[in-house]
Amino acid sequence: MFKCKDIGYRASDYLAGEMNLSERVRFRLHLSICRNCQRFMQQMHLLHDTLPQHQFPEPDDTQIEKWVKGLE
Ligand SMILES: [Zn+2]
Repeated sequence: MFKCKDIGYRASDYLAGEMNLSERVRFRLHLSICRNCQRFMQQMHLLHDTLPQHQFPEPDDTQIEKWVKGLE
């Protein structure tokens, strides 16, 4: 099972289609039970849609840390 932190770290892989099937399933499973991550992924989707693929920024550690702290 993915944890919130994993969702933060793997979001760009997920959106870029760079996950295998079992990872995608676990990712979706976590999203289905976690509102915080649903909201996070909505923001990621917005970013993703407005930027060309090759310019999609990797979330840096400070962004992820800030986001994970917000959950606590
Ligand atoms: Zn979560």
